[in-house]
Amino acid sequence: MPDDGRFPPVTRPPMEASTDPVEVLSRVFGHPGFRGRQEEVVRHVAGGGSGLVLMPTGGGKSLCFQVPALCREGVGVVVSPLIALMEDQVAALRQQGVAAAALHSDLPEGEARTVLRDLHAGDLKLLYVSPERLVLEGMLARLEELPIALFAVDEAHCVSQWGHHFRPEYRGLGVLSDRFPRTPRLALTATADQRTVEDIRRQLGLQDDPVFRGGFDRPNIRIEAVPREQERAQLRALLREEAGPKGSMVGAGIVYCGTRNKTEQTAEWLRADGFDALAFHAGMDGEAKRDAHRRFARGDSVVMCATIAFGMGIDRPDVRWVVHLDLPKSPESWYQEIGRAGRDGLPARALLLYGAGDIALARHRIEESPAAPEQKRIERQRLDAMVAIAEAATCRRQILLRCFGEDDIPPCGNCDVCLSPPRLFDGTVAAQKMLSAVLRTGRRFGVGHVVDVLRGKMTEKVAQFAHDRLPTFGVGKDLSEFAWRGVARQLVARGALDVAVENHGELVPTDAARPILKGEEKVLLREEVLRAGTAPAGRASPRGGGGAPLGDRVFEALRDWRRGEAQAQQVPAYVIFQDRTLAEIAQARPRSLDQLAAIPGVGRTKLDRYGDEVLRVLRGCD
Ligand code: ADP
Ligand code: ZN
Repeated sequence: MPDDGRFPPVTRPPMEASTDPVEVLSRVFGHPGFRGRQEEVVRHVAGGGSGLVLMPTGGGKSLCFQVPALCREGVGVVVSPLIALMEDQVAALRQQGVAAAALHSDLPEGEARTVLRDLHAGDLKLLYVSPERLVLEGMLARLEELPIALFAVDEAHCVSQWGHHFRPEYRGLGVLSDRFPRTPRLALTATADQRTVEDIRRQLGLQDDPVFRGGFDRPNIRIEAVPREQERAQLRALLREEAGPKGSMVGAGIVYCGTRNKTEQTAEWLRADGFDALAFHAGMDGEAKRDAHRRFARGDSVVMCATIAFGMGIDRPDVRWVVHLDLPKSPESWYQEIGRAGRDGLPARALLLYGAGDIALARHRIEESPAAPEQKRIERQRLDAMVAIAEAATCRRQILLRCFGEDDIPPCGNCDVCLSPPRLFDGTVAAQKMLSAVLRTGRRFGVGHVVDVLRGKMTEKVAQFAHDRLPTFGVGKDLSEFAWRGVARQLVARGALDVAVENHGELVPTDAARPILKGEEKVLLREEVLRAGTAPAGRASPRGGGGAPLGDRVFEALRDWRRGEAQAQQVPAYVIFQDRTLAEIAQARPRSLDQLAAIPGVGRTKLDRYGDEVLRVLRGCD
């Protein structure tokens, strides 16, 4: 195969076949063992079985089809919805010495022909193909003539209209079970929603095949949720901790924004702050989106500001943090988005900022949507579950994982609630004061004015409406403005106050306010002991790189070498070696190729290709 400039050429002859998954895992991928349910899936598929794999993002789904494809005769055909994702996986596989190629609409005619020729010659072990290309009659007919190791359908939830990522092209994939009844078919997704799961099985003809559910916990991701006060300052605080001094950030970060405009504005001020920041949203044209995707995939330290349209195909293992500047609409979507952090297993962070306005806005959106009542009911429940996580006074991960059917998880020790448990106090009186101030001012004012009245602040507006003559004026001097805002937010979260988002954000008590006012219901409030934006106690900062030894001389030397290598080959740095592997090399400081080979992540091909160079870099650090 000619070198297409983007990838190193496929090594020929193809790697010697082996049917032992553990041997393939170690020789090709350099991993000492399987994780979770990987081995079970791999053995099932290598033995000719089909099935559905549900694992969280970063759970290690790729190996579930890559290893069996290498163990079986013929080519493994992988359906993938995004060109950028295909390209990166192909690049990573070629680095590992696997004969892999991609076939999609962006490929120049000549290159596509070469791929097809290699396919027919039996020179490919893995072929990534877009769904629309795969189901073309000509393509199916070609494949029928060849030995096929397996079909893998990645991001399989795209087949379901039920989810948010429906791709009509995926519907055609039902044809695979008719045309290739004897070939294993493996569908993979990070979605756990039962309806979507059943839909995938039906559409892809997997009703009688097993479902492999991996554990959904991602313990290396620290989760935090804080009330939004000053968004920029809060994001800057996180960046200070994660990125360290300018330019030394390891890996990448994602900032999810509620609107398209905000993605662009956020990227702009981050750039002014000296970060390599990009924006991504569905309103951009195809080329701009692909370009942003590529820059994100390849940038050494890059921040992506995006709407939730940015999701699939984020394959880089070293996303160190994910921030949500606005409240996600369900725990499922939040988990999928934060799951993009820390796929390499190193420490990563997820920070959620939220406010009373978000909660109210999301509620109104649901009510005003043209969706069917049943759909609205489900969306309401999802949103309430999300609010419960944000306002939690107990381990956030426990609440989150319960949404995925995992009930018996102990407190995680790696969320902000576990790390610095909020104190609860009986806030019934405060809640009553707030509600009565809202009522007495005539339900016509937003939180700012209501708090001014409570704190007895003589403003122009107070004078204008003679609110200083109300009995509630000044009854709340005991609490700070910040605390009062917290009281309002917690009342909104529990549904006792509504925010008139379509007007001017005035607070409106609901029926749920009545028992509180009458003293029939107690309100436990979280004492806002920590001002938002400050790190939980006991955390060292800046830590940088999620645990990678930022600043370590040897690690930095290896990173420099990797950067040059990645640029020369025009591939993402992590496909050469992941941070985790570099960190282990830096620590072990091997003196020989044999010692280097023993480090996880160093497979045979990478040893051949880079071993001498790595040893040279290490000697240079002596
Ligand atoms: P998913 O597709 O489920 O989101 P990936 O297949 O991209 O996850 O794997 C996530 C990360 O975990 C990758 O960096 C991969 O190299 C690593 N990984 C997966 N399985 C193993 C394993 N058995 N040993 C070590 N690392 C693994
Ligand atoms: Zn916890």
